[in-house]
Amino acid sequence: MARVGFIGLGNMGGGMAANLAKKGHDVRAFDLSAEALERAKAAGCLPVASAEEAADGAEAIITMLPAGKHVEQVYTESLFGTAPASAILIDCSTIDVATAKRVGEAALARGLTAVDAPVSGGIGAANAGTLTFMVGGSAEAFDRAEPFLSDMGKAVIHAGPSGTGQTAKIANNMLLGATMVATCEAFLLAQKLGLDPQKFFDISSVSSGQSWSMTSYAPLPGVGPDTPADHDYQGGFATALMLKDLRLAMEAAAGAHADTPMGAKAAELYEKFADEGQGGLDFSGIIRMLDRGA
Ligand code: NAD
Repeated sequence: MARVGFIGLGNMGGGMAANLAKKGHDVRAFDLSAEALERAKAAGCLPVASAEEAADGAEAIITMLPAGKHVEQVYTESLFGTAPASAILIDCSTIDVATAKRVGEAALARGLTAVDAPVSGGIGAANAGTLTFMVGGSAEAFDRAEPFLSDMGKAVIHAGPSGTGQTAKIANNMLLGATMVATCEAFLLAQKLGLDPQKFFDISSVSSGQSWSMTSYAPLPGVGPDTPADHDYQGGFATALMLKDLRLAMEAAAGAHADTPMGAKAAELYEKFADEGQGGLDFSGIIRMLDRGA
């Protein structure tokens, strides 16, 4: 078992650090929040007073932070001066592709090995240790990161060079945002034309219109498996986080001159839904806004 520095013990990082401790790792955990540090202590981690202390002597240093600016700050101000050359640096946050590449290159220039390794799966998967990790970095960096990520997830996939983990994450979530909006529209259209939603589910979930948004995450209560729709759209994947990922996708698309009209429309609709004060609701709750007429 290894010494692991873990920085960012929020909704996601708290459960991830706890799982590493459960697997027997010596987890030195840091967060700006005293409550988060208390929770990490109760979960078997050793709370420390700074990111530098978490990194000191660590074999792996994992960050799970809100956005690119936090990651860049922690890397440049804390980790670059402290991380041992033998450590693998793993950023699991969802951040913009440009910052992920810049941080990866800066690490390499200092003789450090780093990967971007964002996750698919929400707080439930973080707590249960069933996340999917998509990893950007060299083959050697992936091999070093993989055992630690396996201790927190069910699948660890090497996407390609530095930045491609974040690319996979935002492309996937752009697809998810667009298919969710389309799935909501299809349910509402079928219903307004007099088709029973359950019947539509039975047909579409085994026909060419099926997608994860339909079969695993149907946005109407009482239809398909148990989903946030059955719990008044509480829990699940917050609209604010979907909007964050769609904005990252739009930013990356503009930089790459990629035409993404469906992604842009999904971003616009989720922005409107969040502006209505629904940012905390599960993203499938957008069906309510579409029902009223977006
Ligand atoms: P969160 O806001 O709950 O946690 C972030 C934590 O980082 C907070 O506890 C905060 O105090 C800490 N932090 C901020 N700056 C810091 C610094 N300089 N040093 C130390 N700690 C610092 O966010 P979250 O929901 O855990 O999400 C974390 C990342 O995971 C985000 O990038 C998010 O987009 C991504 N993500 C979240 C979900 C989800 O369902 N919540 C799902 C997939 C991916």
